[in-house]
Amino acid sequence: MDLLEDFLNLVLPSRCVLCRDLGSPICKRCCAQHLAGQRVVNRFDLSGFAVCEYDSKAQILIHEFKENHQTQIAMEMAKSIAKLVPDSCRILVPIPSKESSFHDRGFVPAKLLALSVSSQVARHQGRFIQVLDLLSYQRLVLDQAALSGHDRRNNLNGAFRLKAKVKAHQVWLIDDVVTTGATVREAKRCLVEAGIGVAGFLSFAETLPKNQQKRHAKSF
Ligand SMILES: [Zn+2]
Repeated sequence: MDLLEDFLNLVLPSRCVLCRDLGSPICKRCCAQHLAGQRVVNRFDLSGFAVCEYDSKAQILIHEFKENHQTQIAMEMAKSIAKLVPDSCRILVPIPSKESSFHDRGFVPAKLLALSVSSQVARHQGRFIQVLDLLSYQRLVLDQAALSGHDRRNNLNGAFRLKAKVKAHQVWLIDDVVTTGATVREAKRCLVEAGIGVAGFLSFAETLPKNQQKRHAKSF
């Protein structure tokens, strides 16, 4: 796979989406700089791990992955998430996409990330992680990005349903970005009602609460 990518980059060179260097959709230097992080993220009663803050660089990477279907960027994101997967994690459950988003994109970003993370863990750590696509939206919800924290929670109340009954003791959720945590909390509620424990969540990026964003900005 890497050889094929190297070959394609040689005959059809592209530019790094972050630094514009010629060679590949994301260069090794930018990977090392922006995709090598690790942070503990706490939302409500759930804890998880993310690679980075949802800053301007992370926004570009996620946009290129989700809207421009840059699979190589998705793979680099998955590689970085794979390094955060705890030893106790055996099952990943991706956060589903809204039907309209799936219709526009043709794929579910979190599911693609989950499958790539599983593949990376198998390849580099020799462990098998099952991906169970258990959740779907059972009603229309508004776009979360336009809502405040309180409205986000109301918007998602009872939004998910279980697609299939499985015997799973404990799972980890996975999504591309965690913001207020309303989505992972609702996903957990749906799974717990079905008797499935949720140990935590994995995410590529986290959006910092507004007060922390200001503090972070002042420190530069
Ligand atoms: Zn670069």
